[in-house]
Amino acid sequence: MESFDYIVIGGGSAGSAVAGRLAVDGTRRVCLLEAGGTNDNVWIKTPGFMPFIPEKSNYKYETVPQKGLNGRTGYQPRGRGLGGSSAINAMVYIRGNRWDYDNWAAEGATGWAYDDVLPYFKRAEANERGGDDFHGAGGPLFVEDQKHANPASHAFVDAAAALQLRTNPDFNGERQEGFGLYQVTQRKGERWSAARAYVEPIRDAGNFAVRTDTLVEKLLIEGGRVTGVQVRRGGVVQSLLARRGVILSAGAFNSPQILMLSGIGPAAHLKAHGIEVVLDRAGVGGNLQDHIDYVSGWETESNVLIGGTLKGTLRMAAAMVEHRLKRTGVMTTCYAEAGGFWTVMPDSPAPDVQWHFVPAVLEDHGREKVKAHGFSLHACVLRPESRGTVRLGSADPAAAPVIDPNFLDDERDMAVMRAGVRLSHRIAEAPPMQAFGPRDRHPVDLHDDAALDELIRNRADTVYHPVGTCRMGSDADAVVDPTLRLNGLDGLWVADASVMPKIVSGNTNAPSIMIGERCADFVMQAERV
Ligand SMILES: Cc1cc2nc3c(=O)[nH]c(=O)nc-3n(C[C@H](O)[C@H](O)[C@H](O)COP(=O)(O)OP(=O)(O)OC[C@H]3O[C@@H](n4cnc5c(N)ncnc54)[C@H](O)[C@@H]3O)c2cc1C
Repeated sequence: MESFDYIVIGGGSAGSAVAGRLAVDGTRRVCLLEAGGTNDNVWIKTPGFMPFIPEKSNYKYETVPQKGLNGRTGYQPRGRGLGGSSAINAMVYIRGNRWDYDNWAAEGATGWAYDDVLPYFKRAEANERGGDDFHGAGGPLFVEDQKHANPASHAFVDAAAALQLRTNPDFNGERQEGFGLYQVTQRKGERWSAARAYVEPIRDAGNFAVRTDTLVEKLLIEGGRVTGVQVRRGGVVQSLLARRGVILSAGAFNSPQILMLSGIGPAAHLKAHGIEVVLDRAGVGGNLQDHIDYVSGWETESNVLIGGTLKGTLRMAAAMVEHRLKRTGVMTTCYAEAGGFWTVMPDSPAPDVQWHFVPAVLEDHGREKVKAHGFSLHACVLRPESRGTVRLGSADPAAAPVIDPNFLDDERDMAVMRAGVRLSHRIAEAPPMQAFGPRDRHPVDLHDDAALDELIRNRADTVYHPVGTCRMGSDADAVVDPTLRLNGLDGLWVADASVMPKIVSGNTNAPSIMIGERCADFVMQAERV
């Protein structure tokens, strides 16, 4: 049977960082197992091709019908293939708020306060603006200013400023609050996924085995220790051994799924699926949190914004040529070009709403093609109170997990959402945006709470940040301890968005990579004990 020192499950944001860091000095035999392919193609690498990401690179999960969304089913894209969700995401580089990490530590994630995690964000980062107290310049993850932003994205920042909402040139610096253009995980105009950062540079190293198109079916467990994994590749089932340990980085939906398939989870639920219980852990698959998001949309008279008219299509065609030749221009767009953080509730300890400004009309996650030119303004609830679950739908490892984010279950989330949407409209009504001649695609009486709530419940959905389903903490119910070891088993760490005890106030790629960086350190520290 093939054996390695470490096996990392999942080559996404966190898994790429863990595997890369463990393998890079050549002293350990590391195997990275990834269900999807290499993602080495122009559709992934060209930022502007994001709406055309190949089917095989996205799990395209759906939620169960959501009571808080008037019974609608939510969409949950997740990246599949090297880079995971960092290969299909919007590339916005955000870490969250200092308060998030200080609060994690205060609630039991000992050693995860902001001052503890900042060195890992910096270690990961190569910011083109250079290093300073808050930024790294020598890491593998390239972070750049956008090479191109639509005039409307600049106007959005001006519109916020016209309302006295401060402009912020660096959301990851001293203060998060304010509005501005996002920095992006790109290098010279190409998407810079976690796999490009950590895995590709050492892919051919003799001590590093990167196995794509390999589905991990379950963990192998003997006498209270994880000894390896069972995989399926091209219809063949195989066992791989891990002498020193396994790191589970399959993401907020698939990490709890793999634990449950391995007999670790709520006992009654596992038994209902005919799975032998190894560890009865009620917390596995619980605590699901996600950023509920409402997209306001306007069509514009101006056609300088992105749109599917003849003029817009011709402009995109020219932009494709420019990008192939120079890696510049409109095709470097991350779509969510501008945005901001602001506090809408009086008692919030940190900004409670984030905006993403897209210089195009977005309907149904971009799945409904709209010809018109226009802009969309996402407002999401940064620290939702609603909690959901991930459960097994079947004992088949290839089946989708059952995802229930329980969106807008808590009335407090709706109160924040409402205030966020109202501010979206105030920004759109400010003179810099009015210059584009906008027409509201979903008009509503903003003073009428009931009407606004109804519109939100009919149209809101995720902004793609599920976390929390293998919660880290110091209490007995926590799934992993603050060194990311699974409570109750030896030889297993979990490192990905699933370990976040509470969702961070911002996008989740950089935090997941930071978690991967830290996990690699914990694994190496355990070698020295
Ligand atoms: C459409 C979209 C847009 C987003 N935009 C942004 C953004 O602009 N900025 C930002 O910061 N965040 C963004 N995010 C969120 C961010 O990308 C994710 O939170 C982050 O990538 C999660 O990292 P992870 O390591 O937890 O999981 P992932 O990166 O999802 O990695 C999990 C990996 O495990 C693999 N895997 C799963 N099951 C198995 C199995 N059984 N066997 C083998 N491999 C398996 C998967 O194929 C995948 O590669 C976005 C996400 C999406 C989907």
